[in-house]
Amino acid sequence: PLPALAVVGRPNVGKSTLVNRIIGRREAVVQDKPGVTRDRVTYEAEWAGRRFKVVDTGGWEQDVLGLDASVAAQAEFAIEAADAVVFVVDATVGATDTDEAVVKLLRRAGKPVVLAANKVDGMSGESDAAVLWSLGLGEPFPISALHGRGTGDLLDEILKAL
Ligand code: GDP
Ligand code: MG
Repeated sequence: PLPALAVVGRPNVGKSTLVNRIIGRREAVVQDKPGVTRDRVTYEAEWAGRRFKVVDTGGWEQDVLGLDASVAAQAEFAIEAADAVVFVVDATVGATDTDEAVVKLLRRAGKPVVLAANKVDGMSGESDAAVLWSLGLGEPFPISALHGRGTGDLLDEILKAL
């Protein structure tokens, strides 16, 4: 079986946009309205000659559980089934309480984590990404899932983790 990469993070940080980037297609559902990806959706991807599965998550924030618990529950299932995790944070917003809740889960799970600091569309966002060292997950990789900036370096790091 192919190794599986889970893409987790709170709604609207750009998980599905990143998944589209990784699979090289426009398939994962991206919308301005948060929470469009209703469940975990698995795709196949290839980078540097290696194939792997990518699991997009999200869409539970409307749940009765409330935002934090919903994102955490969704992330927990996905992390459990994954060999490695990309944790996506919106660098223009910074780490929120919900992000911190996911960090706790990631620590407990003990799986390899690559931290993607998304929405760094230009040089001026690099410092926003650097702030995310404070999450204690190692190096934040500044990326723009929308424009493709930095996603090659992120994928190289993902392959090391898978
Ligand atoms: P998800 O809820 O985490 O799956 O987020 P989506 O992928 O659906 O993206 C939410 C919104 O953020 C959409 O409007 C995207 O176009 C936008 N977005 C995603 N990545 C980027 C990025 O790198 N830069 C900017 N400026 N916007 C982005
Ligand atoms: Mg989504």
